[in-house]
Amino acid sequence: MSVTEVARHLKTARHVVIFTGAGASTESGIPTFRDALTGLWEHFDASRLATAEAFRADPSLCWGWYEWRRHKVIQAQPNAAHVAIAELARHVPRLTVVTQNVDNLHERAGSQAVIHLHGSLHSPRCIDCGVAHQAPLSIDVLPGAGARIEPPRCTMCEGLVRPGVVWFGETLPEGPWSDALAAAEACDLFVSIGTSGVVYPAAELPLRAHGRGATVVHINPDRVEVRNQEFFLEGKASDVMTALVNEAFGALLSPRS
Ligand SMILES: [Zn+2]
Repeated sequence: MSVTEVARHLKTARHVVIFTGAGASTESGIPTFRDALTGLWEHFDASRLATAEAFRADPSLCWGWYEWRRHKVIQAQPNAAHVAIAELARHVPRLTVVTQNVDNLHERAGSQAVIHLHGSLHSPRCIDCGVAHQAPLSIDVLPGAGARIEPPRCTMCEGLVRPGVVWFGETLPEGPWSDALAAAEACDLFVSIGTSGVVYPAAELPLRAHGRGATVVHINPDRVEVRNQEFFLEGKASDVMTALVNEAFGALLSPRS
């Protein structure tokens, strides 16, 4: 399927789901989870940093890593793909944005009610009682890679405040997951951007959409596995999304905006 053909679907769709993975944020300079384990972090492996057990075993190491990643996100800017997705909301009757990314670049580009399947670097909560951490997190000091930082304490129960992301061995948050499933089953156009589409449970979303008769399009610079009757557009998220929104709606976005 070509950009022109997908643009035609965009113009007539009643409910569009945009589903983003790491590839949507790499153009903003956000390292993927694996790529973040570089530099001074290269001697660590994910099992030491991204599980509840790791956090309980060494909270300041784990919190330091997530604070370092959060600062990277704060310093980054939404890219043209995020901007095009936010613009799309103005042109289609209904748009649902579902992301596996833990940054807030969709929101910063102007998207609203974004469904976060893997949580967010910006929504820490108590590891014991689950209450959201209310105190603003400082962004003044950029932690060096490898820096240990003592996590804050919960104001309700004195428990440790943990990153608000989904760790290995944890299930996806129930509310966002059921909202994403409902959107996938209700939409008529499902666009998956920058995700391999093979890791479950998230890979189930395009499958559900397709099963209910939606057109499913995958956008990726690398060839991804596309199932029967799903479509693939090869290219960077920023280039393809800008071209799609421009072609469908004459929005005149720049791919370098
Ligand atoms: Zn607590």
